[in-house]
Amino acid sequence: MANVLITGGAGYIGSHTAVLLSQEGYDIYIIDNFINSEPSALRAVEKIISKCVQFSEVDLTNSEELDAVFSKNSFDAIIHFAGLKSVSESVGDPLKYYNNNISSTLNLLNSMCKYNITKLVFSSSATVYGKCETVPLAEDFPIGQTTNPYATSKFVQELILKDVALSNNLNIMALRYFNPVGAHTSGLLGEKPRGIPNNLCPYILQVLSGKLDRLNVFGDDYETADGSAIRDYIHVVDLAIGHLKAIEKLLCAESSVSYDAINLGRGVGVSVLEMIKSFESATGRKVPYKIAGRRQGDLPVSYAATDKASAELGFQAERSIEQACLDLWRYQEHLNKTGTSKEQSVREK
Ligand code: NAD
Ligand code: UDP
Repeated sequence: MANVLITGGAGYIGSHTAVLLSQEGYDIYIIDNFINSEPSALRAVEKIISKCVQFSEVDLTNSEELDAVFSKNSFDAIIHFAGLKSVSESVGDPLKYYNNNISSTLNLLNSMCKYNITKLVFSSSATVYGKCETVPLAEDFPIGQTTNPYATSKFVQELILKDVALSNNLNIMALRYFNPVGAHTSGLLGEKPRGIPNNLCPYILQVLSGKLDRLNVFGDDYETADGSAIRDYIHVVDLAIGHLKAIEKLLCAESSVSYDAINLGRGVGVSVLEMIKSFESATGRKVPYKIAGRRQGDLPVSYAATDKASAELGFQAERSIEQACLDLWRYQEHLNKTGTSKEQSVREK
């Protein structure tokens, strides 16, 4: 079976993908520097798959450390999750984001070319579409109207990946995630928030746990059925399946030269008020909330066109929002029981 390098594999989406790939018989090798994750995530992966994980603590911005991994191992394909992802942090410190995210990708591409690895799946984001007027957001819409440095870093990485794929005979697939939610059904793996979360589901979980008093619903005057903003929330295990399909496609690809970008979403818009109701029915608890003003820069409605994922990858998200809420709550209860660590992660896009 193929050997897949997973960068950022100790993180939220990477760890769920690592579990799935291993369960599907792939050999996996994880690298991470734990800048936004903890070694305990790898222990949880090992517990779920009942196997040791091959791992090296590597900072991808350090080309020598990265090259050392390539010189000692042979990889058939790579999934590149490693990157910083906080929109608000990126606004405060754009250089940190450009340095970390773009340098990591450049170093990875250099190592790939040096060691003749040609297949890569890249974590992109729906934020590359920026302010598009129409939904669903389709892959052939213009990209780059970005509104923050995090999104710009993803856009620039996509441009770089496309150029290098075409000139250096690589086969690269950028997956544009919408709003990842949910956790592993075992309750062992999920995402630990740091401080006060910015994103909707982690915030609701803190309210449900009694750590925060109530949710602020950012706007009830959008032109949507209930007035609150709409997003496309996709279960993290469905996302992992999307990566599995992408890797399968790349490994079978006849052409060794190509670049493609594919959305990973459910293709269904869910409003903030609907999300609150889903959490309430999944947990049997009330989510106290108040209506607050709109959050600056927020889009009223964002959801994915999913035809390309379906046609190119045979991928369709299967897990419901209710399932995601149940799994999130199960993981939150696990955290509440075991105590959250001091080093926790920031969840953003
Ligand atoms: P995460 O922060 O949980 O995981 C990213 C991992 O990369 C972390 O374990 C972090 O320690 C590691 N990392 C970061 N910089 C590194 C470096 N220089 N060297 C080595 N390791 C490094 O984030 P996630 O939610 O799992 O997201 C994974 C990828 O998907 C990211 O690139 C993110 O931008 C992208 N993405 C995430 C979302 C989302 O809402 N979660 C949405 C769209 C795109
Ligand atoms: N949201 C909210 N209260 C919060 C956090 C988020 O009402 O405390 C809303 C936000 O305005 C958006 C939706 O929930 O409409 C999803 O926000 P999130 O930050 O999770 O994702 P993004 O806006 O980046 O897609």
